[in-house]
This record gives sequence, structure tokens and C-alpha cells, in this order.
Amino acid sequence: MSYAPDGRLLSPGEVYEAAPAPVKDEAWQEDLNVTLICPDCRENPPVLIEEFSAGDTICGSCGRVLADRIIDTRSEWRTFSNDDQPKDASRVGDAANPFLNGSQLQTEIAFGDGGMRARDLSRAHNKSNHDKANKALQAAYNQITALTDSHNISRPIADTAKQFFKSTDDAKLFKGKSQDAIIAGCIFIACREHKQSRSFLEVYKMTNVSKKEVGRTYKLLEAFLRKTQKGAGDSIEAGNQKSSTASTSAASLMPRACAKLGLGTQVQLIAEDCADRVDKHGVAAGRSPLSITGAVLYLVSHLMGCPKSAKEIGLAVQVSDGTIRTAYKLMVAEQDKIISDECIAKGGDRSRLPAA
Ligand SMILES: [Zn+2]
Repeated sequence: MSYAPDGRLLSPGEVYEAAPAPVKDEAWQEDLNVTLICPDCRENPPVLIEEFSAGDTICGSCGRVLADRIIDTRSEWRTFSNDDQPKDASRVGDAANPFLNGSQLQTEIAFGDGGMRARDLSRAHNKSNHDKANKALQAAYNQITALTDSHNISRPIADTAKQFFKSTDDAKLFKGKSQDAIIAGCIFIACREHKQSRSFLEVYKMTNVSKKEVGRTYKLLEAFLRKTQKGAGDSIEAGNQKSSTASTSAASLMPRACAKLGLGTQVQLIAEDCADRVDKHGVAAGRSPLSITGAVLYLVSHLMGCPKSAKEIGLAVQVSDGTIRTAYKLMVAEQDKIISDECIAKGGDRSRLPAA
């Protein structure tokens, strides 16, 4: 039950609304607006007609010319793509797409209503269209969109990946490299830029290029992007400094791994904290971020009383359960460095930890 401020009981679902404040009479003010009126008719409001053909503003009542110079504010362009909507015939088209080359103002012949002639014309035009560069770019963008969509990667990340791809394409430094590998590298770096890291394994599995090829292309890409993209380069470097062993930190892989395992936010936060400590103290140095993620989750899930088996975790982060156990062994040996007093205060219990 809820009550209004005056003590009245509100009926269910009612929202209290204060009575509107009484309108005060405004003090008299001189009207300083400049109004164009006809000096003969002195009508207010005036009946003004803009005669664009002659460039005059005339009085609608007597026909006196009031101004002989007007600016035509109507649009002076036409597009013919919406000819079937006579109401709104004069509008410009779409904004230029920054991901493509040029201003995209060339003529495109539409398929029309699908009639024979329109279709043939459109086909013939497409065949004779020599804009190969934009076609290749568009194909690459379509591939990026398809890959990111099917892997639940958000649109901003896809756009960043496209932007990276565009700058590599402009630089023409990657001629002869597999396009799939370049795309995979762009997506990987874009994910990291947006702090939604994917493991290298996941990204390389998107494409059907060999791991070696993707790795080599990725190294080149990272060096290139660091040089060209000033802002992006900073965060690429910052990412590297954060964990010296690998470019992707285990903590940044934690949210998705926890979501896959159905672990709550509290466990996730503790796991991220522990992963940072593992990185900081160099426990399990040289292990891949994925195995650190797995081992930390194994440790934290048991510590917090919602145990997950090494096999379950292995499936979620895609490492073998043996790898998790090996890394876990290292962590248990140095658990004092990893487990903070804070997680014990939040309900962690060291006695729940399985023997390594
Ligand atoms: Zn008049």
C-alpha cells in the first residue's frame, strides 16, 4: 500500500500526481519581435506569399512586393529511387559509407519491379561495373558480419573490426595474405579493444585457415595497427603490459566463462580478482590465459561452495581437464597469494578446496 504525501491512501496502481502550480500572470513586456507586415494593409499576422519564380515576397491581400530578395530554402536535389512516393520526392540518399572507397555516388540500376527489361539492364550494368575494390571490401565486410553475428559478437565490435580491415586494405601491406586470416585477426583485436576478449582459439576456429597462418598474420596486424591507429595502439600496448605472458588476460575471459558455467556475478568478480592476482604474482607463469581461466574457476567455484568439475570447466573454456589440474596444482601451492581475505569474508572456505 502506498500513501500520497497528504496522507490519502492511493488505490492500487495509482501514481500520485501533485496538483499543478497555479499559473501566475506574467508582467507586461514589450513585443520586441521584428515582424514583416504590409504597410498598406497592416494585417497582423500578415499574409505573406513567397514567389520563388520571381524571388519576391508579396502581400497575399493586395499584391504589394515586400521584399525582392529571398533565399530559396527548398532542396535543390532529386533522387528517383522513391518516385512512387510523390509526397516526399526531394530528398538526398543515404550518407556515404565510410567503410567503402569514394563517395558512392555512382549510378546503380535497380532491379525495378522485376520485369524482364529492368532485370536484364541491372545484370548488364553489374557485369560492366568495374568497381572491383569496393566489391571486394563489401564481401569482406559481409564475412565479418556473418562471423560476428554467428558468434554473438556485438555490432560495435564488428564495426571496429571493419574499420581495422579497411585500414589494412588501404595500406596494401597484406597483399597475398589469406583474407580469412586478416579478418580473424581484425575480429580478435577488435574484441580486445572493446574489452570483450575472445581467446585466440575461438577466433581461429571461426576461419578455416591454419593456426600458424592466423598467428603470423595476427602478429603483423598488431604491429601495423599499433603504428597507424594512435588511440587503438595505446590500448593494445596497455593490454600487453597488463599481462606480460599473453595479450589476453585471464580476467577478461572470465565473464563469458562464468556465464557458460552458470556461475553468479559474485563468483565471477572473485574469479576476476584471483586471476589478476595470479597474473601479478606470476603464479602459473607461461600458462595460456585459457588454462589460467580454467584453473582459477576450478579453485574459486570450490572455494565459494558451488563446485564445478574440471571436465565441465574444460568444456566451457575449451582446454583439457588435465591442463586445468596442472595449473590448479601450481595455484594451490601458492594459494595465500591468490585468495584474498576479502573472498574469505564473502563466504569462501579453504577447507572446500579439493586436493591437488
Ligand atoms: Zn497588402
